[in-house]
Amino acid sequence: MHGGQSFAFFDRDMAPFVENAGDEETYQAMEALVYNLNSMHSRAGAQVPFSSLNLGTETSEAARRVTRNLILAYEAGLGRSENPIFPNIIFRVKEGVNFNPEDPNYDLFKLALRVAAKRLNPTFSFMDSSFNKEWGDQVSYMGCRSRVMANRRGSAVTDGRGNLSFTTINLPRAAIKAERDMKQFYHLLDRVIDLAISQLNHRFEVQSKLKVKDMPFVMGQKLYLNSEHLGGCDPIRDAIVNGTLTMGFIGLAEALVALTGRHHGQDKDSHALGREIVAHMRRRIDQACGDFDLNYTLLATPAEGLSGRFIAMDRREYGIIPGVTDKEYYTNSFHVPVDYPIPSFEKIGLEGVYHTYCNAGHISYVEMDAPPVHNPEAMEAVVRHMHKNDMGYGAVNFPVDFCTGCSTLGVINEEACPSCGSTAIRRVRRITGYLSTVDRFNDSKVAELKDRIIHDF
Ligand SMILES: [Zn+2]
Repeated sequence: MHGGQSFAFFDRDMAPFVENAGDEETYQAMEALVYNLNSMHSRAGAQVPFSSLNLGTETSEAARRVTRNLILAYEAGLGRSENPIFPNIIFRVKEGVNFNPEDPNYDLFKLALRVAAKRLNPTFSFMDSSFNKEWGDQVSYMGCRSRVMANRRGSAVTDGRGNLSFTTINLPRAAIKAERDMKQFYHLLDRVIDLAISQLNHRFEVQSKLKVKDMPFVMGQKLYLNSEHLGGCDPIRDAIVNGTLTMGFIGLAEALVALTGRHHGQDKDSHALGREIVAHMRRRIDQACGDFDLNYTLLATPAEGLSGRFIAMDRREYGIIPGVTDKEYYTNSFHVPVDYPIPSFEKIGLEGVYHTYCNAGHISYVEMDAPPVHNPEAMEAVVRHMHKNDMGYGAVNFPVDFCTGCSTLGVINEEACPSCGSTAIRRVRRITGYLSTVDRFNDSKVAELKDRIIHDF
């Protein structure tokens, strides 16, 4: 088992524990949680666990107390107001619950917007989107965008399940090899899809032979769906048939440039082709569900390491192709390239249509040049536009710099702090779904960060 962890209903599940607590006591508990999640180096590589907390739609007083105080504790930050990195807070937006002024949790939505404008968190998941609506407010996301919901082998829930494995395909490579021949492109793409599907099935077969006693935490404690009836020496197959097997993709933008000369941000026909390609991948993945009777899903891959690796391999093989291999990274999933100037609303409109197909997870971003703390309307306008454009999950990005010398918080473009001259600046950014400090980025992500341009209104 690897990857991040998501708490599906933090507000609902914590509510019983604060039933008789006041705001002050609840706040202290949430403050301790935020501190612990930023300082317990219990993950492999002495990292803190990649944690996500979903909340926002529970309306009982106790659940509202949980949501309010967690977000307030996150707003206060760490120590002398440093930006927390974890947890990733995912605020569920839903009409009738928190989206409009007459809704019972509207105040919490407004609070979430205010804190997001200062701290990059919460992010926002949209329960009213066409593909989430059927589940009510039950869809949960995991920080780097994962979504585990439909289940052909058991209950369609997020709790007690996860993604078993994911494999990312290199869309630009198929496009380069096709040399603008669409028939050839789909032929090559189908071959890679076949390979990914059978590789994921092979992986599943290997995993399913593990025994409950091999995984004492998840299976031994019967945390996984349908693991209750399994004994220590039983294989975990009956439980993990509830998990998902995910095929992801990278570089739709560069693939479109290779096929047509223009990406989906530049050209309507390319956008239509992009949609057709992603829809095709989803159809193939849905077929695999039937063929193997397993939960195959399509992911808009974040590709932290792959974005630099695939492009380097393709450059070695095919040389420098303008707009395709002439940079240091392939663009994340279906995103419009980060260096392409496009107004924020237009970007949301373009990327929104791709969320539908990527049922294993998706995220879209808008970049701002500074925390919109004095312009909360801008933040709200972006989130409402994401909601309107059928997105499942979205976030607004901006730089958050913190001078550890004098505790100045804001955007520090210079090497040294303008107030105290210290060069010990902690620079927090969102990358592939999570917050991180810039010094932890790999080379291709540093290059991507440098290329990011601001989306105007
Ligand atoms: Zn300073």
